[in-house]
Amino acid sequence: MTRDDRSNDGSSNDGSSSDDPPRETVSIPNEVELPRLLDFYDLQDAEHTGIHEFYGNLRDGELTTTRCDDCGAVHFPPRIVCPECLSDDLSYTSLPHEGTLHSFTEVRGTAAIGMTDDTPFVAGVVDLGDVRLSARIDDASYEDLEIGDPVRLKIVDIDGPTDQDRVFYRFVPV
Ligand SMILES: [Zn+2]
Repeated sequence: MTRDDRSNDGSSNDGSSSDDPPRETVSIPNEVELPRLLDFYDLQDAEHTGIHEFYGNLRDGELTTTRCDDCGAVHFPPRIVCPECLSDDLSYTSLPHEGTLHSFTEVRGTAAIGMTDDTPFVAGVVDLGDVRLSARIDDASYEDLEIGDPVRLKIVDIDGPTDQDRVFYRFVPV
């Protein structure tokens, strides 16, 4: 897989622009060794996931996903095999970093490990170019938001419980 079709048009897709605020760190408890399935975030290296390139791109400040070289389908989350035509000729392609809120809710009770101290928080579904994805919406309360609101990508660093440098995506209101 390659990133041969990455956008180089100098648009806001470039997460390394000097306008970006410092990246926030999300902490996950280190006191106990979590069973892997209880850790919300994937292990993100090539040894543990076939979509490590997605995480590498995200670590570099760019949200990407896979597009099938054979049938052209764009998927999210990224795949290692096209669910439409079963081809494994996939390329990473850049997604826009700004989208619109398709729907949202507020998580008040049970939350994944690493998020329990954050409740209540907003979880949303975001329309982003060719894909629709779910993500946390930071820096907003449920009452602040309306369907159709513009939102922008926010990348967070994940601290613990592994030694890996992990990242994840969220969105914030524009
Ligand atoms: Zn395909």
